[in-house]
Amino acid sequence: MTRTSDVLFDALKQGLADIDARGLRRRRRTIDGANSAHMTVDGRAMIGFASNDYLGLAAHESIRAALAEGASLYGAGSGGSHLLGGHSRAHAQLEDELAAFSGGFVDDPRALYFSTGYMANLAVLTTLAGRGTLVFSDALNHASLIDGVRLSRAETQIYPHADIDALDAMLDASRDQTATKLIVTDSVFSMDGDIAPLARLVEVAEKYGAWLVVDDAHGFGVLGPQGRGALAHYALRSPHLVYVGTLGKAAGVAGAFVCAHATVIEWLVQRARPYIFTTASPPAVAHAVSASVRIIASDEGDARRAHLASLIDTTRAMLKRTRWLPVDSQTAVQPLVIGGNDETVALAAALDAQGLWVPAIRPPTVPSGTSRLRISLSAAHSDEDLARLDHALSTL
Ligand SMILES: *Cc1c(COP(=O)(O)O)cnc(C)c1O
Repeated sequence: MTRTSDVLFDALKQGLADIDARGLRRRRRTIDGANSAHMTVDGRAMIGFASNDYLGLAAHESIRAALAEGASLYGAGSGGSHLLGGHSRAHAQLEDELAAFSGGFVDDPRALYFSTGYMANLAVLTTLAGRGTLVFSDALNHASLIDGVRLSRAETQIYPHADIDALDAMLDASRDQTATKLIVTDSVFSMDGDIAPLARLVEVAEKYGAWLVVDDAHGFGVLGPQGRGALAHYALRSPHLVYVGTLGKAAGVAGAFVCAHATVIEWLVQRARPYIFTTASPPAVAHAVSASVRIIASDEGDARRAHLASLIDTTRAMLKRTRWLPVDSQTAVQPLVIGGNDETVALAAALDAQGLWVPAIRPPTVPSGTSRLRISLSAAHSDEDLARLDHALSTL
């Protein structure tokens, strides 16, 4: 007789077998040393096109030094949650710097630092939305936004990707409802690399008295003057904007921040469970992020963004010459749609054999039939790195 405790075991085994049968098994790779354009992956020297380290700062000497300095100044761990003894001078300073850097979209901006972007998104959505709130969410939003909306128990309407007319119609249909309305969007969509029509989103939000939450995980550090982010890129301003930037991608370290009017941030401090019920991240990490933000804002940051822009141009031209379907992306995320899972995996394997790490992205991350290679560019790449990729793609 099967014991009930084995029912779950059998279901997991069956589930894993199904994943294999559909060519969807995911495998982690182990990196020795620092993550940069050139690195050691599972013991082999490779050129990586898989990271979100868009400015090449993850291995930057002075940010590493700041992390070490932070550990010597503040110790290894924070010792507590932010509200119970774990909030350090390093966290406080970083929040002031981030509010000044990216808060130009609102009067009286304030920033709140989180351990991860996933938690920041859960915090924003569960705190600003709830039963009785209407949330309008882009069909291609990141999983952390989707999970945040689900956890909030708000009523959700999904609008077709970047379709402002459809969104306008949905908002119009809910015109008579007194409920708080929240529009939620990625700025740069992580699997297609396209940028949301943010100016029109702000317009439509104002028209219907809605708030707009913008997840700028792939824009902070890269877009806008000095890398201030997607809202600065379009010089948008509204008191009803809530901005989420992450600090483990272009900033090369870890964590995230929410920036909004001080009243919104104070409400998060009082009420956001993903902020309150977790240990504050090590102050040294915040200290290192401060160093990273200084570089992002500096001439060196400008030079890194300019180099990245030229790599993006080269890659766009290169992908057009292949027999597959490039996605029209102006950002560091350059997808090449192959189609089937097996074909995509085979192509990634062939590139891998040539020392090129380009991840295959499959369902459920992207819709079925649109499996793709996702080429992520970094200012740490050289023109020769791209020439290697170009050569490999042209011979496959
Ligand atoms: C990576 C990412 C997140 C999560 O940020 P982490 O700091 O990695 O947890 C949130 N939103 C988007 C769009 C992302 O790409």
